[in-house]
Amino acid sequence: MRGTVLYGPRDIRFEAREMPRIEQPTDAVIRITATCVCGSDLWPYRGLQPIKGPQPMGHEYCGVVEEIGSAVKSVKPGQFVIGSFATSDNTCPNCLYGYQSSCVQREFMSRAQAPILRVPLAEGTLVPTPGMPSDDLVPSLLATSDVLGTGWFAADAANVKPGSTVVVVGDGAVGLLGVLSAKQMGAERIIAMSRHEKRQKLAREFGATDIVIERGDEGVTRIMDMTNGVGADSVLECVGTQESMMQAIQSTRRGGYVSYVGVPHGVEFKGEKLFYTHVHLHGGPAPVRRYLPKLIDLVLNHTINPGKVFDLTLPLEQVAEGYRAMDERRAIKALLRP
Ligand SMILES: [Zn+2]
Ligand SMILES: [Zn+2]
Repeated sequence: MRGTVLYGPRDIRFEAREMPRIEQPTDAVIRITATCVCGSDLWPYRGLQPIKGPQPMGHEYCGVVEEIGSAVKSVKPGQFVIGSFATSDNTCPNCLYGYQSSCVQREFMSRAQAPILRVPLAEGTLVPTPGMPSDDLVPSLLATSDVLGTGWFAADAANVKPGSTVVVVGDGAVGLLGVLSAKQMGAERIIAMSRHEKRQKLAREFGATDIVIERGDEGVTRIMDMTNGVGADSVLECVGTQESMMQAIQSTRRGGYVSYVGVPHGVEFKGEKLFYTHVHLHGGPAPVRRYLPKLIDLVLNHTINPGKVFDLTLPLEQVAEGYRAMDERRAIKALLRP
């Protein structure tokens, strides 16, 4: 089998790897129907997150179960399944509180940009669809595996409610699906911060009512102007930089909520400064597993079409071009078909 391996900055190779097989009774092996490149893959790809030697890549996946370990009862060979980027037993206290991405047995997936994938803790990690979905639904089902699940968590963690005024910082796939999620949760006003025309258009399609192109302090000033100097009820931070985090906190009203789902890189703030903002902070790796059954339903009954974030589809062996296109912002998100 060949799979995707990152060797160093901008050095992605599709090369021979060992065929995954059942190693533990709790494993499943699935044949990937579709996988994709994640915005978070770009951190190590750009050399901004060190790697210790060649690293197999990919953590967003859906496909058909080939084989299961003896302890797996909830999924069967032949079923179409979707899983999160973090494995979970779905039984430990963290899982029962709805934070499956902090499961005590968690492993982060990192080999999904390949035709065959071993999924540990299959029973608690994988969610099967009721039947074999039609091929046109595959991109949207794949999106539930991370980007939509993460965008949904961003909106949920920022306490988006019917009538809320929401700001979304970040116009990557997660930010755009944060817009879609806020719309589903009944937000009245959704302000997307983007200076990229194609992304602005998709944000509007997903439910954004306003677009702000300014960033940093200028962006904050614009949000304050638009909210009568009060700030937004809910701000979704979907980038992970110091600038985007400060922009998010300063755009929030007193007592409002900031969620942060972009993996922080060099983000720091002073306790005193935070103290006087009066904001709620809630973020982290999204517990996608909590939302999967609901999100899969919304896709299967055609309520939402999150697969629109995939504006590039490539055969899996051209994965390196998928990384390049996203790195150069030529593509929002690249879908890969084995
Ligand atoms: Zn991802
Ligand atoms: Zn658990």
